[in-house]
Amino acid sequence: MATESLVPATERKEATERRRTQAFFPQLSIEEELNPWLAQEARFDFAAKKLNLDDGIWKLLRHPTRELIVHIPVMMDDGHLEVFTGYRVQHSISRGPSKGGVRYAPDVSLDEVRALASWMTWKCAVVNIPFGGAKGGIICDPHKMSQGELERMTRRYTAELMEFIGPEKDVPAPDMGTNEQTMAWMMDTYSMHMRQTVTSVVTGKPVELGGSRGRLEATGRGISIVCDHALKHLGMAVSGCRVIVQGFGNVGSNAAKLLFEKGYSIIGIIDLDGGLANPRGIDIHALLRHRAEAGTIVGFGFAGAEQVDPAELFARECEILIPAATENVITSRNAADLKCRILCEGANGPTTIVADQILAEKQVFILPDILANAGGVTASYFEWVQDRMGYFWNEAEVNRRLDLIMSEAFDAVISYAKAHNVNNRIAAYMLAVDRVAYTTKQRGMYA
Ligand code: GLU
Repeated sequence: MATESLVPATERKEATERRRTQAFFPQLSIEEELNPWLAQEARFDFAAKKLNLDDGIWKLLRHPTRELIVHIPVMMDDGHLEVFTGYRVQHSISRGPSKGGVRYAPDVSLDEVRALASWMTWKCAVVNIPFGGAKGGIICDPHKMSQGELERMTRRYTAELMEFIGPEKDVPAPDMGTNEQTMAWMMDTYSMHMRQTVTSVVTGKPVELGGSRGRLEATGRGISIVCDHALKHLGMAVSGCRVIVQGFGNVGSNAAKLLFEKGYSIIGIIDLDGGLANPRGIDIHALLRHRAEAGTIVGFGFAGAEQVDPAELFARECEILIPAATENVITSRNAADLKCRILCEGANGPTTIVADQILAEKQVFILPDILANAGGVTASYFEWVQDRMGYFWNEAEVNRRLDLIMSEAFDAVISYAKAHNVNNRIAAYMLAVDRVAYTTKQRGMYA
């Protein structure tokens, strides 16, 4: 007979997590494991050491150039005045204007925005586009705010950033909780202050307002391109390739749709409302139609699709797992349970550094975030270029160029991994840090 443990189940689980965390990083608590800024720093330090980076440049690239905190008064619909806290962190402008999204979420923090800003620097360098990195965020719950409240908050936030953003300075874009409409408001507010229409101050705008064709689905398209390359590299076939996607927002739904159209079998979709599984593959077009009507993926039973437990689905056997929602979904708690051959990071920072080690032991092939989800910012670059030219490409042209850039970046990361005998994540960081350090040195120090 099994003996009953005297330690309650929750404490046992915490102790196991502590042991796992500490086995790899003796000094790291669970809270530290989940801090995205510390994760960014650890990977940057590792890559910098491997590159033998000069001490001064190391110190310089470790810190963001600028961190701005703003308090934004907003008149709410019921007549009371609310004050929201917002951030804009510019990590680097070494390779060009800083670039990166603006996030609206209740748990936005300065450390998170810092990490996301530096990831933008590395991401833009991996795909070799002429931008540095930045990120912004406002602590708010956009789902609980009216359109009017969101518009007033966005406009006042933009007004507070007037001196810091601009086509040659820092170019915001959408991220979690923001969209094309948010960008239209930002562009309009900036333009009203400048007394002229300046479309290239933000990207991810509606096509009618200077947005680029193909931008909306570009992150998903980039994911599908690197998945194709990964399969080829590993000698695997598209037919029979089972994919599970976590997150069904702009990134996850477009990735799922494009992979489905290419013949991949999407056997699981997980979002905030639950998990949906079909071992024979989910018809993503039918699911998108259902979601458009019902507002949720729940209740979709087409061709044998079933509601399942999201945590169980996340750990099901598949060829490709795509976390496409938010940070820290793969941690010391669940990394050991995953059964995917390829992890393709659609989200920024979905894997903690402890989970990295566990996945390395399991020999999971990683398509790291700063490569896998770079399709979005690459199309943002195209949008910025088109706005400045005043000449717009058709969608086929955007997609052709996106394919070229993503494919080159994939090859560059893989050859770095081979040449330096490191995993793909460290290879991507090394490639990026090397490129940023090179321009920094070439420009010389104003110090
Ligand atoms: N928010 C997206 C990202 O994390 C896009 C940023 C951009 O287009 O500037 O990559």
